[in-house]
Amino acid sequence: MIKKESIGKKYAFSGKAIDCFFNAEFSLLDVILESEDVIFITDENVFAKHATKFIGRKTIVIKAGEKHKNQKTVDDIIDQLIGLHADRNSLVVGVGGGVVTDISGFAASIYMRGIKFGFVPASILGMVDASIGGKNGVDVGIYKNLVGTINHPQFLLYDYSFLKTLPEEEWISGFAEIIKHACIRDKIMFEFLETKSLSDFQSDDRLIGKLIEENVNIKYNVVSNDEHENGERKLLNFGHTIGHAIENISGLSHGKAISVGMALACIVSEKLNGFSKDETQRIISLLTKYKLPVSVQINKQKTWEILLHDKKRFGSEMNFIVLNKIGKAEIKKIPLNELEEIFYKL
Ligand code: NAD
Repeated sequence: MIKKESIGKKYAFSGKAIDCFFNAEFSLLDVILESEDVIFITDENVFAKHATKFIGRKTIVIKAGEKHKNQKTVDDIIDQLIGLHADRNSLVVGVGGGVVTDISGFAASIYMRGIKFGFVPASILGMVDASIGGKNGVDVGIYKNLVGTINHPQFLLYDYSFLKTLPEEEWISGFAEIIKHACIRDKIMFEFLETKSLSDFQSDDRLIGKLIEENVNIKYNVVSNDEHENGERKLLNFGHTIGHAIENISGLSHGKAISVGMALACIVSEKLNGFSKDETQRIISLLTKYKLPVSVQINKQKTWEILLHDKKRFGSEMNFIVLNKIGKAEIKKIPLNELEEIFYKL
């Protein structure tokens, strides 16, 4: 699907090569793609802001937002793929935030038992997180990402001009995952982020480009060591166990809910792992500096009930990601009753 002579940075998962084109223009797709039948999937917001990029291209436009990341949207996409006569030689390209890449990767993975696909992530979160690692899928009711597959795209293309139209709120959300990467894996990046602000990155393509590439490397390294999430990959769930439950119950965006989840996971780390209170404060200050929330009013009982359905729960235990220090995380198996006690005191 990718012309052999095209040179991207090479990543590989389970021996499958993924070409990653950083700091590229969208139109590069016309040079690198071999398939004659390329079908783009994007959402209404990205389409409205970047309509000229899609001129002359077969494009499926889905409704924007997490509430449309469900099987109904997948069914609509499949109907449109049929209408466009997509076959096993077609290539799907998801252009958008994490919702678009998750859903287009999933639709492509099940259409005709799987056709090839690639991504042009268009949000910060899509660029540093959702498009890497092969997880795709949809939500079922309140349960996030309950149905899906692990299947990697052929390529990733990073065109930073998409970020010019990304709403401020989505920049903020995306930085939650960047700060998460720094907390679990990269103290130097954490310290670097402490010296900068969101507007520094928004106004400097070179700076944001470098940060994105570093974050892709972190996610890639973690995932390629443990594609099926038996160990190290679980570290990426730092802040997500409580964060996902908060996201469901509070209506906060993914990134903001994860930010609150990280702040709370720091406190759990203090109690379970002797994580230093000073480092909790540094993390809370960094999240706040990047305009992320660190607390929210929620119904604790409902949140706990949702948390019990987390995929990281096994019987009466939960795998919970705690920090040892900034830049180093660890997986702890916690008895549910112990976690419940800590949770209600948070
Ligand atoms: P999103 O896709 O909903 O995008 C956020 C909003 O920004 C949407 O309204 C979208 O239309 C808009 N948008 C995106 N790019 C834009 C651009 N360039 N210009 C203007 N508007 C733009 O959400 P997200 O925050 O990108 O991703 C969140 C999703 O990613 C969640 O569903 C989450 O579960 C998923 N995710 C998946 C993985 C994974 O490993 N597969 C990892 C993390 C998150």
